[in-house]
Amino acid sequence: MAFGRIINMFYQLKDMGYGTYNTLYHANVMSIANYASGIWGYLDYNNSRMLQNKCNKFYLGTHIFTPTAAVNIEMDEPDIRSLRWVEMVRLKNRFAKMDEYRWPRIVLDWDVETGTNAWAREVKLILTQANCLEDPTLESVSDLDILSRNLLRMSRTSWKMDAHVKTKLELMLEIHDFSQEKVLLKANLPRLQRSLVLMFKAGVFPIRKETGRYKNIKRELRFCEVCEKKVIEDEKHFIFVCKKLKKVRKTYIPAFLKEHKLKWKREWEKCLRVMVQPENIKGFAKWLEQMYLARREIVYR
Ligand SMILES: [Zn+2]
Repeated sequence: MAFGRIINMFYQLKDMGYGTYNTLYHANVMSIANYASGIWGYLDYNNSRMLQNKCNKFYLGTHIFTPTAAVNIEMDEPDIRSLRWVEMVRLKNRFAKMDEYRWPRIVLDWDVETGTNAWAREVKLILTQANCLEDPTLESVSDLDILSRNLLRMSRTSWKMDAHVKTKLELMLEIHDFSQEKVLLKANLPRLQRSLVLMFKAGVFPIRKETGRYKNIKRELRFCEVCEKKVIEDEKHFIFVCKKLKKVRKTYIPAFLKEHKLKWKREWEKCLRVMVQPENIKGFAKWLEQMYLARREIVYR
């Protein structure tokens, strides 16, 4: 329901910047999905994870077959469960600041002392996992910034591990710069460009290598429909090789390679890595859109 409201706004405004989307997402979706999670937020709930994935994929303009690990890596947002964990520790902090004779504080102290399967135990588990447990009696106030940062770091490690088991994400692991944050989002691209860059990096760009899969064509037979040669249409062929796309390619690639002193034949993955850097991503995205449209024109004319 709340997410539907964002989708409506999205269509009314045609598109929205990442900052606006993020504000609306937290105000309309997270605040409802995680309501009062300071109390109940410890466990993992598949439905809430699915909701977060759905929102992320919608904003990035990509389809359901895009690996979730790629979406998470690109969004680089704290996962929904860690937001709830922060809320639990925030509530613990409120109790810890209270005088010892106040009821919530008395209950907390009692819970810490006796609880084997209780709320305080969950808070301790959160703080231990995030490497933030300084005081097992929970009497001190925890730093929520450090906690959030540590939780995000843990999520990043697990997204990367997820990506390593997905063959589709080989290219992403090769060209994504993990030392930078939210490069794609900060570029504030139009929705189609944002979606094309993500699909390209995530190995689900609509070229034969991917579309052949929908038609159950064997990997080694997914030949290029554009130049109709017996070569597999993968990212490298599409971007650097296919002769039928030469005209559009010329508007970008030669000058780009010259400027960065790169030779695609020897290091095509490195070329892509440079293209998706913050200073180049806008130009790359715009050109990728032209390539996509030119390809579509040839294949579906
Ligand atoms: Zn071709």
